[in-house]
Amino acid sequence: MNPIGVFGGTFDPIHYGHLRTAYEMLQALKFEEVRFVPCGKPPHRIDPFADSKTRLAMVNAATQGQRGFVVDDRELYREGPSYSVDTLKTLRMDFPLRSLALIIGMDAFIGLPKWHQWREILELAHVVVAHRPGWRAPDIGPLGELLENRGTHRVDDLHRSKSGHIYIHDVTQLEISSTDIRDLVKTSRTPRFLMPDAVCNIIDESGCYDSD
Ligand code: ATP
Repeated sequence: MNPIGVFGGTFDPIHYGHLRTAYEMLQALKFEEVRFVPCGKPPHRIDPFADSKTRLAMVNAATQGQRGFVVDDRELYREGPSYSVDTLKTLRMDFPLRSLALIIGMDAFIGLPKWHQWREILELAHVVVAHRPGWRAPDIGPLGELLENRGTHRVDDLHRSKSGHIYIHDVTQLEISSTDIRDLVKTSRTPRFLMPDAVCNIIDESGCYDSD
């Protein structure tokens, strides 16, 4: 049974930086599937601009028809802040014997020590980190130490155990961010070719980023 990749994000909106990262991991790390888990209420940042329903619709539209891409809306129905550790606990209940791999970008990994019960995350899942333009892996501090103790360069380690390793994976560097996309829309420009057309259409029709 191959690992399940768990890709959490605000996806406000989802774009090709997310999709290409997930696809490359699905293939290179031989994941059974990548589950896109849109965040309900982000604990570490301001509320999303688009509402949950619209963000979910965009994730559905972007992933539809791609084998191995699964949309998981469990965070959208939970009260309170969406802590990754809680999401992983419920996934662990659903998949008790599976290897789980939390996918995060390097920018998010750098902030990991600020996450709620962050050390427990590694008891529940592996952490797979995608390189992102402008961000370097830390070699000092708690994350440097963690990488020293838990880091691996072997994909096999992600398959052989259910949790506990950190793996850094090079993905095609696409300098796309949701923030830049929202800024484009706000200034009446179209984000076409940064995301699937189906997502562009939802942005257009809903007007979700037309103003602050
Ligand atoms: P924002 O600009 O609003 O902060 P974002 O583009 O970073 O949004 P998120 O939904 O916050 O998107 O990101 C979800 C996850 O995807 C995070 O772990 C983030 O590091 C990662 N990610 C986002 N954009 C990219 C990209 N271009 N390449 C690789 N990883 C990315």
